[in-house]
Amino acid sequence: MTIIPSFPGNSNQRAEGGGRVREPSASQPAGRPRRSEVISARESAADQKVENSLRPQRLDQYIGQSRLKTILEMSISAAKKRGEALDHVLFYGPPGLGKTTLAHVIANEMGSQIHMTTGPSLERPRDIIGLVHQLEAGDVLFIDEIHRLSRIAEELLYPAIEDFVIDLTTGKGHATRTMRLSLPRFTLIGATTKAGMISNALRDRFGFPLRLEFYTCEELALIVNRTASILGVAIEPQAVQVVAARGRGTPRIANRLVRLVRDFAQYKGRASVDAALAAEALATYQIDSSGLDSTDRRLLEILIDSYGGGPVGIETIAATLGEDSDTLEDVYEPFLIQQGLVQRTPRGRMATPKAYLHLGRSVSSMQLSLDLNDTSASEPDAG
Ligand code: ADP
Repeated sequence: MTIIPSFPGNSNQRAEGGGRVREPSASQPAGRPRRSEVISARESAADQKVENSLRPQRLDQYIGQSRLKTILEMSISAAKKRGEALDHVLFYGPPGLGKTTLAHVIANEMGSQIHMTTGPSLERPRDIIGLVHQLEAGDVLFIDEIHRLSRIAEELLYPAIEDFVIDLTTGKGHATRTMRLSLPRFTLIGATTKAGMISNALRDRFGFPLRLEFYTCEELALIVNRTASILGVAIEPQAVQVVAARGRGTPRIANRLVRLVRDFAQYKGRASVDAALAAEALATYQIDSSGLDSTDRRLLEILIDSYGGGPVGIETIAATLGEDSDTLEDVYEPFLIQQGLVQRTPRGRMATPKAYLHLGRSVSSMQLSLDLNDTSASEPDAG
């Protein structure tokens, strides 16, 4: 595997453990995670240290996402039979669901090298040129956060993706020259948490956009078992269920919870993790039985207690919570929506009856606030 930044000017960083290029927030010191970091699907420095050892390497080790795996299996097998590179792939979905892992799996299945970078680090033309210059036939080029590519970078990439050529411009003014360089056939894998922010032109250049779904509790239980066995954690089947139920349908979070319960067991001098110990450990971090933490519950409280159930604009919620709206939209909201606790409407976010019940509020108080509000606002938003 290659980390791209070995050419001049690229601002990527090599991640500890030899893998990912990380967001700046990932460089925080490791240690006891803050509560809000525990259920954040964004990668922390502590995650980075272990994630490479936990990543499934082949498609048959990759748990869940069965629809997507079938599509990939067929495409990989067809591309291999033809002796060609796989079509470009776009993965989208909330953080921590396995987009990067799938990129590695694809490279392994294709028997090719993977080169990794991120959208924001491809600022200048020379970043792209240096990047594509390293590619060999069949290689996988993984661009995380592809929605953050600059327009210049996108436009330079178009011919590289479509026709496997790149236009190199040298000189200035009258002396400007453009040279067209041929590139080997490679596979671009883009990953994003914000499919809506990718330009249509870029989206159209991908063979197949594939959406990753939250994992079921049963799938997360398999992942928890697998992680526990890799990390050498003795965990009882009922404790696996406790952890899986609190994993927010997200492998990265489930894996983090395994590490937390392991540490808690060690602290308590226990050789193995049982259900009561797992529940006690996770309660310490104020994670409830549905995987909601204090920030989630505060968000629901704001909707219900301060705004009568909504609708409330995301910026207002963010300001009241003291979080940025991007984090709310990327990290908190997708799971709350998937759980049917929050609804997106054209006029803002609304709490659902399930949210009232979750907080122990009476649903009749919701009815009252709906009567006072304009009920037409509760039409679900297509986005
Ligand atoms: P993303 O790129 O979507 O943010 P990653 O691919 O980095 O997510 O996955 C986060 C962690 O979850 C990795 O450590 C990986 O080992 C684990 N993981 C993701 N998907 C699976 C899966 N299907 N089976 C087992 N572990 C998984």
